[in-house]
Amino acid sequence: MARVVVVGSINMDLVTLASRFAKPGETILGERFLTVHGGKGANQAVAAARLGAEVALVGAVGDDAFGAQLHEGLVREGVSLDHVARIADCGSGTASITVAEGENHIIVVPAANARVTPAQIEGAQSTLASADAILVQMEIPLESVEATLRLGHKLGKPVILNPAPAQKLPTEWLKLARYLTPNQHELAILLGADSDEDFVALMQRAPAPVVLTRGGDGAWFRDGGEPQHQPGFKVDAVDTTGAGDTFNAALAVFLHEGIAPAVRKACAAAALSVTKLGAQGGMPTRAELEAFL
Ligand code: ADP
Repeated sequence: MARVVVVGSINMDLVTLASRFAKPGETILGERFLTVHGGKGANQAVAAARLGAEVALVGAVGDDAFGAQLHEGLVREGVSLDHVARIADCGSGTASITVAEGENHIIVVPAANARVTPAQIEGAQSTLASADAILVQMEIPLESVEATLRLGHKLGKPVILNPAPAQKLPTEWLKLARYLTPNQHELAILLGADSDEDFVALMQRAPAPVVLTRGGDGAWFRDGGEPQHQPGFKVDAVDTTGAGDTFNAALAVFLHEGIAPAVRKACAAAALSVTKLGAQGGMPTRAELEAFL
């Protein structure tokens, strides 16, 4: 069983389903509202656990009602929470999501996620040292992303950096990652490049190997040599929230099989995830993935 450590955010997603998006200043009626457990860190931890990995999460929730619910949900999914802090006098992270026309709009308020510190990462050193793969995104303070990259590298563990939401990062940090997993837009921002620059050219000049996701087109990956294409799996997309998270989790879980098989399984798992509503709602189990392949 692969051991995956995820360092990242934990959010309550406040999801509104509507037939279309409201224009600025406009009020419209939605069809449904629901609260769903999310945050890129928690989502990737849950996706990896469903795919059969032994998963530990490093992160933080607030001492509010959402924090208790989020904690309970992660326990139910079998994620180890020894390194998830419960911050006093602080709210849990939230993401307000509108789903319409098969697309989504998202606003994230970090709250407790902004309190994940480099000291907390250092404190989880023995857990990181036991990992087959470490996954980190950018919904926690950048200094903690850096601490994860440095510690993972020092321990000789492959760190997958999912640069979302994207910001330009120092080249020196990027070199510490085993793989960068942006979409095209995120890769351009990460490298400080022009957003309409060709993605193959961007992949070639990234300072670390890139696995680039391209929605229904699937993924491209480059680990030295020419970029290779893994076509997307054909499915009826219902809600793409969480596709990238499922992709990253599967990549971490199957990385020990080699990059090409891992990317193929990541595309398959992510395709399954878009056939159902919600980020964590659509994440497949290992049995579902095997039946699909
Ligand atoms: P992000 O939401 O982070 O931009 P993408 O939209 O690129 O991520 O999706 C991540 C992965 O999910 C893709 O590489 C692909 O494998 C899968 N995926 C996303 N949308 C679809 C779709 N409509 N059909 C099949 N696979 C999809």
